Amino acid sequence: VHVPEPAPTVVKTTCPYCGVGCGVLATPDGQGGAAIVGDPEHPANFGRLCSKGSALGETLSLDGRLLHPAIDGARASWDDALDTVAGGLARIAAEHGPDSIAFYLSGQLLTEDYYVANKLSKGFIGTPNVDTNSRLCMSSAVAAHRRAFGSDTVPGCYEDLDEADLIVLVGSNTAWCHPILFRRMVDARARRGTKLVVVDPRRTQTGEEADLFLGLQPGTDTALFSGLLVHLADLGALDAGFVEAHTAGFDAALDRARTIAPDVAATARATGLAEADVAAFFALFAGTARTVTAFSQGVNQSAQGTDKANAIINCHLATGRIGKAGAGPFSLTGQPNAMGGREVGGLANMLAAHMHFAPEEVDRVRRFWDAPRIVTGEGLKAVALFEAVRAGRIKALWVMGTNPIVSMPRADIVRAAIAKLDLYVVSEAVADSDTARAAGRTTVLLPALAWGEKDGTVTNSERRISRQRCFLEAPGEARADWAVLSDVGRRLGFGGAFAFEGSAAIFREHAALSAFENGGSRDFDLGGVRDISDRDYAAAPPLQWPMPRARSREGRARLFADGRFYTFDGRARFVAVQAPALATTVTEARPFVLNTGRVRDHWHTMTRTGKSQRLSAHRAVPFVEIHPDDAASLAIANGDLARVSTEAGSAVLEAMVTESVRPGTLFAAFHWSDATASDARVGALVRGVPDPVSGQPELKATPAAIEPVAYR
Ligand code: SF4
Repeated sequence: VHVPEPAPTVVKTTCPYCGVGCGVLATPDGQGGAAIVGDPEHPANFGRLCSKGSALGETLSLDGRLLHPAIDGARASWDDALDTVAGGLARIAAEHGPDSIAFYLSGQLLTEDYYVANKLSKGFIGTPNVDTNSRLCMSSAVAAHRRAFGSDTVPGCYEDLDEADLIVLVGSNTAWCHPILFRRMVDARARRGTKLVVVDPRRTQTGEEADLFLGLQPGTDTALFSGLLVHLADLGALDAGFVEAHTAGFDAALDRARTIAPDVAATARATGLAEADVAAFFALFAGTARTVTAFSQGVNQSAQGTDKANAIINCHLATGRIGKAGAGPFSLTGQPNAMGGREVGGLANMLAAHMHFAPEEVDRVRRFWDAPRIVTGEGLKAVALFEAVRAGRIKALWVMGTNPIVSMPRADIVRAAIAKLDLYVVSEAVADSDTARAAGRTTVLLPALAWGEKDGTVTNSERRISRQRCFLEAPGEARADWAVLSDVGRRLGFGGAFAFEGSAAIFREHAALSAFENGGSRDFDLGGVRDISDRDYAAAPPLQWPMPRARSREGRARLFADGRFYTFDGRARFVAVQAPALATTVTEARPFVLNTGRVRDHWHTMTRTGKSQRLSAHRAVPFVEIHPDDAASLAIANGDLARVSTEAGSAVLEAMVTESVRPGTLFAAFHWSDATASDARVGALVRGVPDPVSGQPELKATPAAIEPVAYR
């Protein structure tokens, strides 16, 4: 008798890498592995995956995993580990006050994990010092959205990229860092002739594909978009009706722009671009109604990042190109759940559900959570948070799912600061990350679930919430972060507030808070799914917020189509931006501007992508890009080792001599750590001066020196 093999189970989930948020179909093989293909039904990718996504099946091994809790290097039971964490937090809060406790979270966490961490810290422990590595990713875009729209709202959606006639990419190597979105742009070019303009000091793969590449001087983006605003006004290419009816502050913004870049020639001088290129860009923008300006880390990771983003948004408000098909400013988020973290208040300057610290917002969240110790003001943002650790003001730090000893600016200082902590807790899937190997006076390692093992939701760059589903067994004693946080909450005596039975229950509470006394005054509203059943949550398709409150699960692709914004008077705000200036200038001793970023096939500190030989082969060794003229003057040949030094530290990297960088600039990728290479941590080189509005540190322009290393 022929007994048919059972059909393999196919699980719909979401890629854990970038903010595009592609849908994935995983077919587990029953032995800890899985076959991975793109989900043809997911509206982010329609079945496509990039090199990183398609190699996910190669990264599922348990090599290097943290499988058991540990206290000060010795294996411990979960009970002992959680008692140590809860007891330490209670003691430190009693002795030094709750704000001596800090959490450093991650855009890799699921929304449900983020929600519980934020509720525990800001609502019940009573510390506002909760920040995230997303501070390094897109917090300038968040701040710019709030200044312009009165809320952190991405106005458009991915379909706008399909329907635009002009796409302007600013500070974004989209071809490498958001590859599936870039494929959509290339498709639009083939289908409807969409023009592509790329603005970037570095001629990346994205720049190579551009119809017009604007290789401006580092840090001069506000001059380019100030010049554009002036040009649009002088040309009469404004949407005067929109500006009059739906905005405020135009005259002041234009006056300021005239002082920065009064005409094409001045813009060219300020940016280092050819006048003809500036004129061509301005003409394209002025003449193309369906324009999307997408921006990413080159804009955000800057000491003037918020102003740069607002300079871009100003041009869209001036032309009424927002909330319309194929038109709008578009922030591309870096991490898979940078957006979800914003939704639950994972940033130190947010409370929860897109609420901040206005007294009525604090009161609303306090009553919803029944949280008498709720914090009433902002906490320390990432750079300031680690400075407070170094200064001894933070006594306990809980790091979840991130590797700040590699990724933070001045990373060596972060390592030294951690050594001073009374209590250092790390929730991590990887045993040997630099951050997991660091130690405070008491160090507790808590094994976390990795992709394929955990279950919850993430939100991508177009506000679309997708499920990450579990298709592998939890290895060793690894547990969900939300469950661990809830256990600590209960041990601290917060009982019923942390009695979650699963990620669906957390999602329902999160959705209910977003709709609680909302009345349409806030952008973020998941009221339509606040009573979603466990079964519907398990099967939920991708959902886009905001969702109407009347039990509908239909989200909105575009916002502001009616010209109403979330400011008190419903008008968007123009922002009078500052003239461009780098936070630190080059000197005779450090004459280069060091830019940092990513490569195509690695993700962050390589703890997952490093397991794939195929991905590692793309860029096998840590490198620094240098222009041929500079390399020749310093006698550095392609492939030589070179030492790059800054005020913060030094690293030895392989020189790549290339015209993709401007003379006087260098580029290095930040992925390598002590765990993967020696003397090659680029994060340790970066000074990281924060933007005064967003707190996002400058990672793109650090004064540096470079010299050949004698040995080869
Ligand atoms: Fe994953 Fe981003 Fe690649 Fe999509 S584009 S497969 S989300 S890394």
